[in-house]
This record gives sequence, C-alpha cells and structure tokens, in this order.
Amino acid sequence: MPPKRRSEREPEPHPEGPPPPPRRHVPWSSVWWLVAMFLLLWGWQSAVDTFTVQTIPYSAFKKHVVAGEVTEIVIEPELIHGHIKLAEKPKDGPQELEFRTVRVEDKDLVDDLEAHDVTFVGELPRLVSRLLIGWLLPIALMIGLWMLLSRRLGAAAGQAMSFGKSPAKLSPTDETGVTFADVAGCEEAKLELSEVVDFLKNPSRYQALGARIPKGILLVGPPGTGKTLLAKAVAGEARVPFYSLSGSDFVEMFVGVGAARVRDLFEQAAKSAPCIIFIDELDAVGRQRGVHMGVVNDEREQTLNQLLVEMDGFEANSGVILLAATNRPDVLDRALLRAGRFDRQVVLDAPDIDGRKAILEVHARGKPLAGDVDLGVVAQATPGFAGADLANTLNEAALLAARRGDDAIHQVDVEEAIEKVIAGPERKSRRLSDALKRRIAVHEVGHALVAYFSPHADPVHKVSIVPRGQAALGYTLQLPTEDQFILTRSELVDRIKGLLGGRAAEDVVFGEVSSGAENDLEKATAIARQMVARLGMSERVGLPQLGVRDESPFLGGPGIGGLQRDCAEDTAREVDVEVRALMSEGYDAARAILRGHRPTLDRITEQLLKCETLDHEAFTALVVEIEGAAAPA
Ligand code: ADP
Ligand code: MG
Ligand code: ZN
Repeated sequence: MPPKRRSEREPEPHPEGPPPPPRRHVPWSSVWWLVAMFLLLWGWQSAVDTFTVQTIPYSAFKKHVVAGEVTEIVIEPELIHGHIKLAEKPKDGPQELEFRTVRVEDKDLVDDLEAHDVTFVGELPRLVSRLLIGWLLPIALMIGLWMLLSRRLGAAAGQAMSFGKSPAKLSPTDETGVTFADVAGCEEAKLELSEVVDFLKNPSRYQALGARIPKGILLVGPPGTGKTLLAKAVAGEARVPFYSLSGSDFVEMFVGVGAARVRDLFEQAAKSAPCIIFIDELDAVGRQRGVHMGVVNDEREQTLNQLLVEMDGFEANSGVILLAATNRPDVLDRALLRAGRFDRQVVLDAPDIDGRKAILEVHARGKPLAGDVDLGVVAQATPGFAGADLANTLNEAALLAARRGDDAIHQVDVEEAIEKVIAGPERKSRRLSDALKRRIAVHEVGHALVAYFSPHADPVHKVSIVPRGQAALGYTLQLPTEDQFILTRSELVDRIKGLLGGRAAEDVVFGEVSSGAENDLEKATAIARQMVARLGMSERVGLPQLGVRDESPFLGGPGIGGLQRDCAEDTAREVDVEVRALMSEGYDAARAILRGHRPTLDRITEQLLKCETLDHEAFTALVVEIEGAAAPA
C-alpha cells in the first residue's frame, strides 16, 4: 500500500473534542469601543481644523478686508472661510493663512468685499461631503481595524480552545529518513521489529493466515541506546505514517486534557492505518497507579486509563502498531504490560564491542577519517558507552580536528574526544601551586600503581594531572579489556583497593591525607555496601538481601546505586561493621602495595609531573623499567 500523504495537519471536525465555545452575546467591550471611537473622532476633527485653519473674530476679518489683505473667501450660511495674505510678515507666524470666522449679520459685507477687490463665492451647506470625509471615512477605517483585531484575537482564542487536540506530528515516510541501516549494534531487536515492518507492508498476508501481530511493542533500554532511533527506523522501513508523541506531552496541567489527547491520537491514527503510533518516554504517563497523591497524579492516571481503554479498543490487525520506549520498565503500571497491550518487549542494551564498532561505522559515514583511525581500537576503549555516547564521541573528534585546522579526523582527536566524554573538557588554564600538583600526582599514581599490582583490577588506560570538567584535578582511567556482565568478588575487592589507592599514596608519601579522596571514598563505600547488603559477599551477614534498590537496574552499573534499608537495627549495624572491614582491608592492602613499591611510586610521580599525562604504554613501560623483569606484565 502506498504511503498516505498529507501535506499538513488539517483541522478536522471533532465529534468528541473539547466543548464548543459559548454563544456570543453583545459584549460590553464593544459598547466601550464605540464610545471611545466617538470621543476620538471628536478630537480628531477639531485637531485637523485647528492645525490648518485659524478661527478669527469677525471684527478681525473685517479689518483684514479693509486692509486689503483678504484675497478670496467662501461664504457659507454660517461660516466664512478663505485666504489672507498679510501686508508684512509677522515675527511669529506665516504671512499667508487660511482663516475661518463665524458669520455675523452684516449688510455691508458685499459692498466692502467689492470695494477691496476680494473674490468671493457663496456656497450651499456642504453637509454631504463634510459627513463623508469628516465622519464616515474615519468610522469605516475604525471598523476595519476593529474587525482585523478581533479576527486576530479570535484566532488566538481558538487556539486556546483547541489545546486538547493532539500535538502528534504526522510525518510522512521520507521525513523520518531513518532506516535499519542507520541503527547498528542491536541485531536481535532489529530482527524482532522487522516482523512488524513486514506486517505493515503486507497486512493481508498475515490476516489471511489468521496470525495476530502484537498491538503494542515496548522498547526497553538504558538512555541513549537508540530506542527513539529504532522506532523511527521501523516507520522508515515500512514507509507508513509515524505519529510520534512523548509521554510528557500527555501530562499537562489541565485535568482531562491528557486523556483527550490520547483519544484524539488514536482516532487520527485509525483513519490513516496502516501506521505507527510511537509514545516516547512511556514512564512519564504509565507509572504505577495509586502510588502517589496529588492533582498532577489524578491527571496522569486519567491519561493512563484512557490509554488502556484505547489499546483495548482497537483491533489487533487493524494496521495500527503501537510502539513505546522507556528506560524505566520497572516503574510501569502492570496493566500496561499484560497480554493484548504492550505484551512484547524488545530490549536494547548498551552495545558490546562489536556493536560499538558497528555504531561507530554508522556515525563515521560522511566524516573524513585519517588512515590512522582504527574504529576497532576505539570500540575497545569505550566499554559502557551507549550509541548516543559513541555518536557524541565522533562528533567531538570532528570538532577537535576542526579546531586544529585539520581536514581529517585523526586517532589523537578520537582519543581526546573519548576522554572528554568520560571526564569532561580539559581545563589547562586552572592554576595550581607546585605543592598541590605534587599531591595530585602522588594521588593519581597511587590509584594507578595499586591497580597495576592488583591481579583482578582493570588495566590502567591513562593517568593525568590535567584538570578536567567541574571538579576533577587529575584522574586515572581504568578500562576493562572486555565487556563485563558480572563481577567476581576478587574483582570488586580490587576495585575498592584501586579507589583507595589515591588516599593511601598521600598517606604513605606525605604522612597526611587530604580532602581530595572524597569521591573515591564515596564510590568505594557504595561498592562495599552493595557487596554486603545485596550481593551476599560477606560471611558474617550472609546471603539475605538487606537493602531495597531504589534505582532502576539500568541507572547504576552493578555495585553502584542507592540503597534503602530493609532490615533490623542489629543487622544494619552488622552491615556497617562489615562495610568498614572491607574498606579497611582494602586500604591496608593498598598501603602495603605502595610501601612495597615506594621507589616506583616516587619516580613515576616525578615523570607525571614532567609530562602531565601517561598513557597505558608509557605507564607500563616505566613500571617495568623501574621494577625490572620481576614486575607482573
Ligand atoms: P534513546 O531514545 O534510547 O535514549 P536515541 O534513539 O535518542 O536514544 O539515540 C540518540 C542518538 O544516539 C541517536 O540519534 C543516534 O545518533 C545515536 N545512537 C544511539 N543508538 C544507536 C545505534 N544503535 N546505532 C546508531 N546510532 C545510535
Ligand atoms: Mg529516546
Ligand atoms: Zn582519587
């Protein structure tokens, strides 16, 4: 079926839309308008006259006649007006002027006029022309203006009345402009959705077989993994209209409007089937009902109810497919997920190394890459990056290359871009005293060395004392060699050790610690607490899970995230004791490593102070050189 096209959204009559505006009475404002208009007119009339025509007393007029200064006049029944040319120019005013005077009973006027050679004409009262020019014209003008204004205001009022209309955009196929080729690294999801594409292309084949295609498909995954992109790609592949709406569009201040929008949207969609309705950020509207209180919530519940009703209302094979995306599937109302509604879920995970390479290739299209760029290496250096981060990285690299004045992107640009995405932009201008720099260098080398000598820690990718981002004065970047789905106890313990390595080094070298380890301590504590309270890794506390995770599984990686206590006082105390034990074990181990390799610590610190950054190769080479062949690789 060819795609239906509509150049723009046309307003359609709406049987169940918002109520029509109340009937018009003669509004008070128009009475006021008329009064104001007349007053204005009055002022205008007299203003016009006083500016151009001087009203003079009759006696003055006679004097001018006698002086021979009046050249011509018009005599009306009640008025005389005409032209005066003064004999000599007065100091303040023009020599010639138009005058007007009220006519007085004067038998000798004509004689005087003739005696002084004044041209004079009599005139009938000019009622008609005066009325026309003086009154009707301005009135017509004002009415015109009024109509113009009221139409404008009316249009605005009309918009205010139609706020319940769906703002869903109907974008014709070639406008989404996205196909499956633009989405990489999620082959399973694409496979699953290609069934939908096929159905939208030939619905009759499925109908003939009696196959029921799912009405609702929920795209689930952490932010930036391409959910929105994939939904657009489905529409682009199937070449059907794509109604896109974000969950927060539904939730409006006015009670009832969200529900009206849902109704509107489904109605509009039913008319242009086959088509796709896409609700982005479904959790904004589809949260568990009845958990919170308040007006906004009433509104949300109404919207959700309406959504459920509409989803039940349309036929399974009517050609309307509902796609939705969320990164919080755990907070969605269960009713949304039951069979017949969003009964199919497509999971989009953070991409693995091959996926990252594929995504990088997609985004490298149209960007001039120099020969030294190896996207495989970039993919390796970016574990945990979602599609959006990768797109961002390549974009930053292009910006950096442009700043360098180069016409191609080099590997250095990409590496700098990765660090920028992870840790924020470099801030070389920040001035630090030498003593502070030394402390930071010792701290960072501490992290790096402890990680190096811990067999289960991630390899050190980079050590730097160039300030970055908001707060980091220096940083040590450790990257896993492969994607990690689970972590063993030793890996977690080594992670704590590495995090405490910075403070341990300050302790070992200066004998005094600083506030610079605050962030490290926070992370280490979070890991230790997770190990004890959720992962059953402490013998003393045992296996029961003692905390309720109040973050979604996506938001924090394993080992990080807030905990709500869910156990007895005594047990909580035990947990604290165990956490403290884990931390101090880690700290002691870190200090032991650094004491054992003190010369290495000192020499690498010197080197870091000199060159500010050490990458993986330089760091490893230094350690091997100082430690001799005995050092572990
Ligand atoms: P989400 O909706 O899951 O938060 P988006 O679909 O908005 O993420 O993705 C944001 C951007 O990241 C996309 O516009 C695209 O440039 C890029 N991106 C994300 N995932 C992918 C992917 N799998 N393949 C290609 N590009 C991707
Ligand atoms: Mg999105
Ligand atoms: Zn640190």
